[in-house]
Amino acid sequence: MTPYTSNPGTLKLQRIQKLGSPYQPLVILGVLFAYITLQGSYIPHICLFDEILHLKCSFCGITHSFEQLLKGNVLRSVTSNILASFLIFHFLMSFIFSKTNRLNLQSLNNRVFLVLVCIQFGLNNAHLISG
Ligand SMILES: [Zn+2]
Repeated sequence: MTPYTSNPGTLKLQRIQKLGSPYQPLVILGVLFAYITLQGSYIPHICLFDEILHLKCSFCGITHSFEQLLKGNVLRSVTSNILASFLIFHFLMSFIFSKTNRLNLQSLNNRVFLVLVCIQFGLNNAHLISG
């Protein structure tokens, strides 16, 4: 018996994580939807990455992109920030893969998301290269 598995607090935490994790992506999507519909995009732009490094992070403009998506302007949403459209897909797939225990597909889903985050970082800062 190892001290970690016999610790009741650790066991309880493991149970909570196991129960809560499949629904986490849906909760995040719900919070995002509520944020946009309650006009959260009218809050001034705040980004520590932008403030400190003077570079736009991958998520700069994502609220505007979500807003366009909810208005049905898919093209404007995608040209504004590709992550908004993919985040919905990513969270839905994340929910399905965790419910069906498809960990290999969940891992692929996470890697594709990471690649898109890198691509969006390049797109958000492309103006620095072109001058
Ligand atoms: Zn940012």
